[in-house]
Amino acid sequence: MQLERRAFIRTAAALSSVATLGLWPRELFAGLTEKNHFTWEEIRSGLWVASGGEPGGGGNTLLASGKENATLIDAKVSGIGHTLRREAEAHLGDKVKLTHLINTHHHGDHIGGNPAFNDITRIGHVALNPRVAPQLERLRNAAGALYRQISTLRDADLAPVVRDVEKTIESLEGLDASDFEVSRVLTDELDLEVGGIRMHLRHVGAGHTDNDVFIHLPDHNVIHTGDLLFHELHPYMDPDAGANSRGWQQSLLNCLQVCDGETIVIPGHGAVTDRDGIKAQIKYFDDMRRVIRYAKDVESMGRDEIVKLEPGPASDYGYEQLRPRVLGALYDEMERE
Ligand SMILES: [Zn+2]
Repeated sequence: MQLERRAFIRTAAALSSVATLGLWPRELFAGLTEKNHFTWEEIRSGLWVASGGEPGGGGNTLLASGKENATLIDAKVSGIGHTLRREAEAHLGDKVKLTHLINTHHHGDHIGGNPAFNDITRIGHVALNPRVAPQLERLRNAAGALYRQISTLRDADLAPVVRDVEKTIESLEGLDASDFEVSRVLTDELDLEVGGIRMHLRHVGAGHTDNDVFIHLPDHNVIHTGDLLFHELHPYMDPDAGANSRGWQQSLLNCLQVCDGETIVIPGHGAVTDRDGIKAQIKYFDDMRRVIRYAKDVESMGRDEIVKLEPGPASDYGYEQLRPRVLGALYDEMERE
């Protein structure tokens, strides 16, 4: 018993030191079945949504596989791109090539994986690239943090992911802004056809950021909203990146225009939904503003008190840690109106 325990400690210490050095003991996992890190849900024939995948998750990704060519929408967090690509290409098989990546906006949980796709066409709004260089250090650090987190978990299922993240880490010094930027830009709209799949990219104005793009696939009756929709989650407000809730609601109204009762709606975060999810996001901002107005005008509360409120509407929403930020941003907007 004593010896076994010592042996265990020795093994654990050895594992811990190789993980720290960045040398994953690969032979340890030989013969294990490689499971997907992300959850891949086929929402229509040839269309998959990749979600989940902690640690290393991020915004929801759509893979659209057409004839010979395929498109990916959003690349998740820094360091996870190679895993995303490996799993996406496994869904495509030998005959279909991944040729396009669309980024819905510049946030790190949507473009972080971009360096793994710098050999294919990358598309985004014209205001995306200028927002990359200022966050380059953060994107690099995020890959390092993910590597430390994922390698110290010493979970056998994560071994293939560790190898993928290592690839990013090895190239980290050489990565510059261009590795995260898009190679083709749109201003208001762009209609594409990749592998016979039509995609309408639209930018309505500043909403979640100043470079939001939503993508409508008219033949499949599917829309990817990017972070214009946080489904049943408190949204991330980023006023420094041009976020404003009125423009956000306007973008969502434009999303609704292409939806009917059968449309599948892929939010930036949260479960796949339908047009009611978009309507709920519009109502969310109205409800929050109503709460703030009441707190200000009737209860005479100041900003400090208001950001601590737990409003009844959306009381069951996730990402609770974002609620004070939402209340603060909306309060500031209303002060300016
Ligand atoms: Zn975002």
